[in-house]
Amino acid sequence: MSSVPRPAVPASLTFLGAARTVTGSKFLLDTGDTRVMVDCGLFQGERVWRRRNWEPLSVDPAKVDAVVLTHAHLDHSGYLPLLVRNGFAGPAYCTPETAELTAIVLRDAAHLAEEDAEHANAGGWSKHTPALPLYDSGDAEKAIELLTPVDHDSPVTIPGEIGLQLRSAGHILGSAFAELDVRGTRLLVSGDLGRPGHPLLLPPAAPHQADVVVVESTYGDRLHEAEDDEVLADAIRRTLGRGGVVLMPAFAVDRTFVLLMVLARLESERRIPSVPVYVDSPMALRALEVYKSAIREHDPQLRPEVTLASTEYRPTHLKLMSRREESERLNRPGKPCIVVSASGMATGGRVLHHLKYQLPSSRNTVVLTGFQVPGTRGRSLLEGASQVKIHGKYIPVRAEVVATHAYSAHADVTQMVAWLSGMPEPPETAYVVHGEEDAARALAGRLAEELGWNAVVPRYLERVRIS
Ligand SMILES: [Zn+2]
Repeated sequence: MSSVPRPAVPASLTFLGAARTVTGSKFLLDTGDTRVMVDCGLFQGERVWRRRNWEPLSVDPAKVDAVVLTHAHLDHSGYLPLLVRNGFAGPAYCTPETAELTAIVLRDAAHLAEEDAEHANAGGWSKHTPALPLYDSGDAEKAIELLTPVDHDSPVTIPGEIGLQLRSAGHILGSAFAELDVRGTRLLVSGDLGRPGHPLLLPPAAPHQADVVVVESTYGDRLHEAEDDEVLADAIRRTLGRGGVVLMPAFAVDRTFVLLMVLARLESERRIPSVPVYVDSPMALRALEVYKSAIREHDPQLRPEVTLASTEYRPTHLKLMSRREESERLNRPGKPCIVVSASGMATGGRVLHHLKYQLPSSRNTVVLTGFQVPGTRGRSLLEGASQVKIHGKYIPVRAEVVATHAYSAHADVTQMVAWLSGMPEPPETAYVVHGEEDAARALAGRLAEELGWNAVVPRYLERVRIS
């Protein structure tokens, strides 16, 4: 008896996050019999998005066969413990460096979620009693066990006979864009794309031909070109000159290391005075160790000239703070200094208590060095808020606020178009994600005009056919 072949169900892609917003990257690839989630990130920022972290997904996590993570940042990896708590038990493919950094990020995220719930319960300002963490350390540990390392540029076959290749994205250590072969259709998911000028990492690899592209657009309407170190150097000189504290909220992974390199260089060029530089983020210290060991082992993602001897990231008076008491002593440093602390958008972590103490004085300066998602305290500061709410209290903002994109780990719009133009032929469709709506539309417009691409800005939860 000959079997009648089943008609092939078209493969589809559903945008479960990062659609017309920057955070919450989650793209569900469904081939009819297999479901793969590319990135598994948390929403951050505005309440309307954050609330979605708590809502059930439109797919049963137990029915997801595999996850692919492009890199370790929370908005790409931070939902994994929740997916696991709700039944996901498959492999989560990522590069070995991403596995190491994701373990650090998820442990920290679980710890902060537990701490937030405790704070809210102790202060009684939660709308829920008792306030529960989104997930706990146990969930994070289970998620970490599922991380399945795959080297850059090593093709593997994952559930559903899907071919996967992780290619270097030059955004942070371990970062990758994913090329997936689904029954003859090639899907490229950019993750976050680095800029060619990263001081440690090689620029993103050139993309292979793809039929469907999912591309980020964080800076889809912006250029970094006019930015240089002088904005930071000038802010530091001005602040120290009036006896103040320079507070730099910084992403723990990658950005803290890059900023330390910049501070060490500005000091050696005598463009800023030698003052104590405190790094107050246990997660940043752990990430720093991963970076150092990658440099020691000549990780192929790094620029070949980068060695530990040539990488000066220690300003003369560097102090790495790990214990909580040391951190608390910094609330009143008593002398001009520079404090680098996480999180980078002031959504949580030790930077909150530094802000609480430093924002009320006009002698001090807060320097924002990364993209600030709408709805975060970092964005409010950027937009000139006169108060920000921290741990239930309104804190007056009298400190100067300075922003620079000179140390961004994202490609700007021209760099993104240039990277995509490396694809030999236009894809059938490009979906522009991971950007605020204006930025996503701006990049889609450039792709249509300059490359003649069919570029679309998908809606949250929209489902499209890819084969
Ligand atoms: Zn990222």
